[in-house]
Order: sequence, then structure tokens, then C-alpha cells
Amino acid sequence: MATTTPVPTETECPPMDFGDLKSECVAPRPSIMGQKRSLRSILWLSFKGILRGLLTTLSYFRRPSTVVTQQYPENRETLEMFERYRGRLSLIHNEEGEHGCTACQICERLCPNASIIITKDKKNEATGKPALDQFIWRQDTCTFCNICVLVCPFDTLEMTGDFESSVYDRRLLVFNLNEYAGPTAGQLDKLDDEELAKEQMKPMKKYQGPIPMCGGEMDGIPKLDVEKSTDV
Ligand code: SF4
Ligand code: SF4
Repeated sequence: MATTTPVPTETECPPMDFGDLKSECVAPRPSIMGQKRSLRSILWLSFKGILRGLLTTLSYFRRPSTVVTQQYPENRETLEMFERYRGRLSLIHNEEGEHGCTACQICERLCPNASIIITKDKKNEATGKPALDQFIWRQDTCTFCNICVLVCPFDTLEMTGDFESSVYDRRLLVFNLNEYAGPTAGQLDKLDDEELAKEQMKPMKKYQGPIPMCGGEMDGIPKLDVEKSTDV
């Protein structure tokens, strides 16, 4: 038969000695010797850190090729960004300065924050096909998600490594990406008459978009012709 330990009644419990309990819970104070030892170890660790830093710096004098810090802006001419860096959206032009954008507006429709605005000539007089008028990119709202580059069926968009985009006025972050308004390189090649093909390439300016932030107009930045915009 199992036996149970009898529970002491209240009157049988020994009185608590709080004085002893307090002395057990409080951490003992370090002695003067202990304090000196920890101060010495802190000083030693600090000295070791400084020494290690100095040795690293000195090693770069012996092996300059191992330097990882970029000397910017002194190396502006030679500085290359990483292959996957997304600095600025660009419409690719070939050596003749012709682009491959058909103004299909797929990138415009799939851009999640309306950073692309495309206007087009619905029927080019020489080719009889739609031709790009303005490819406007708003860098001030672009999140560099790269969706437009991925969805372009003609691979005519790319992200460049250009990272020097600082301006004092956000209205200057609206770019016209096409160097000319007109048909694609392929459509121009099909035209037999070279003069007629050249006539279709109407030069465009870099800043030729709408003025964001309700900032009014700026010199050299004409407003978007909304009549030409929209609709496929
Ligand atoms: S990178 Fe993204 S946000 Fe920027 S224009 Fe392209 S789709 Fe729009
Ligand atoms: S860049 Fe590509 S997706 Fe965008 S309108 Fe031109 S052809 Fe279409």
C-alpha cells in the first residue's frame, strides 16, 4: 500500500529568514583586484582592435590590388557597377541610332506604378504601322523592379549601371528614352528609300515628359501631348 508524505500544517512550518534569502540573491561585488583585471582586459581588447586595423591598412600599401574601397569620385571614369545593378532604365539603340520599340505599350500597362508613359503615332505614313512617338520614363516614381525589362517582347529595354542621378529638382527625373520618334530599326530597314527612312526619324530631346509633383513648367521641358497618348 502506497504511503504519502504528510503535509505540515501552517503552525508546523519554520518561519522564513528573509535576511539570509537576501544575502544569497545579491551578486557578490567584485574585489578591487577583480575590477583591475577586467579594466586591463578591456584596454587590451581595445588595443588589439586598433592594432589589427592599422595592420590591415598597412597591408594595402604592400598589396594595392586587394583594396576594396572605391576611390569615388576620383575613379569616376573607370568605375564599373555590378552586372545586376539597376541604375537607370534605357531604351536600346543600335549603332545607327535606331530603336526596336514598336510602341506596343505592354511595359506601360504592366508597370506597377505608372512610371512609363508611351505616346505613339497610330499609323506611320511610310510603314503603315504604329510608331513610337514618346517613351517617357519617370525615374522619380520608378521602383526599379525590372518588370518592364522582363516583359518587353522585343528585348529593347535594359537597366544600366548609371547611378549618378542626383538632382535638386525632382521634375528633372522625367526622361524621354527614345532618341527619335518613328518606326523601329526593322521597319526602317524594310523601306527601300533611304531618304524616306531618314525622314521618319524625328529627333527627340532627353527631357520631354509630363511635369510631375504639380511643379508647373520648366524651360526646355515641354508638356506631354495628352491627345496623342493612351489607347493601343
Ligand atoms: S522598373 Fe518597374 S517601376 Fe520602374 S518603370 Fe519598369 S516596371 Fe515601372
Ligand atoms: S519597350 Fe517593349 S514592351 Fe515597351 S512599348 Fe516598346 S516594344 Fe512594347
